[in-house]
Amino acid sequence: MIRVAVAGAAGRMGREVVRAVSGEADMRLVAAFDVVSAGVDAGAHAGMRDLGVAIAHPTEEALTAAVPDVLVDFTAAQSSLRIGLLAISLGVRLVSGTTGLGDAGLAELQRASADSRVGMIYAPNFSIGAVLMMHFAALAARYMHHAEIIELHHDGKRDAPSGTALLTAKRIRATWDHERVQTVSANTVPARGDLSEGVAVHSVRLPGLVAHQEVLFGSTGQILSIRHDSLDRASFMPGVLLAIRRVLTLDGPVIGLDSVLGL
Ligand code: NAD
Repeated sequence: MIRVAVAGAAGRMGREVVRAVSGEADMRLVAAFDVVSAGVDAGAHAGMRDLGVAIAHPTEEALTAAVPDVLVDFTAAQSSLRIGLLAISLGVRLVSGTTGLGDAGLAELQRASADSRVGMIYAPNFSIGAVLMMHFAALAARYMHHAEIIELHHDGKRDAPSGTALLTAKRIRATWDHERVQTVSANTVPARGDLSEGVAVHSVRLPGLVAHQEVLFGSTGQILSIRHDSLDRASFMPGVLLAIRRVLTLDGPVIGLDSVLGL
């Protein structure tokens, strides 16, 4: 039985993880952390039956007392580094999907995981379809050298551009040599988007959206459009459950669900 703790259990993703973990025969929710809804049962808060796990603050004592095998973190950029480092320092494996951490924060988590040989999986996108979308975009970038990204999310999302858009831009850029990098006026004309790794990224935030991204490649007389839509947060759960099982076999950091999928 895999003992799972969830940080951000009162949030949109956290509630989904609570539901997903409770539905797996080989997993058990043993702790739920959040800064809001303290004392409320995590199952009831996620719209299910009571699970006998009250939401608590993510302190060292609470994490130590729960003895989880894995901590799943879907909190906020400013707290996930502290929570992740705490878990790793206690020997608790980490599955984190919190975005907006920045390169330095992610590097710090990776170092802690590698140094203490405690497994960790960080993925800015746990949707298997979205990971395939990025994979196909990186493949297309080998042959088409002009690209723009339009990412669309619900209006509650704090960071922009999304972690997925930044990673997609990075992966596209990695396939281009210097001569091929397009020159767009994105940095000087705001309406042309934000230039990331030589790729213009446009962020849309509207109620009604969940998580969507379109990568457009243009070349003479043709456009290739690669699009992925997460229509429900449940779309992230197969990837999260896969990561919970896989992290048990790791003794260091793995970044990106594509590595977990062997792409
Ligand atoms: P949310 O605001 O609905 O939930 C975040 C929860 O974390 C809130 O309940 C908040 O109270 C809690 N929280 C904040 N600071 C905390 C702390 N110090 N300790 C404990 N709990 C704390 O946000 P959300 O939509 O669930 O998204 C959470 C994160 O996951 C964001 O960074 C988002 O971009 C990211 N996300 C990642 C993926 C992915 O596939 N990797 C998918 C969707 C969202």
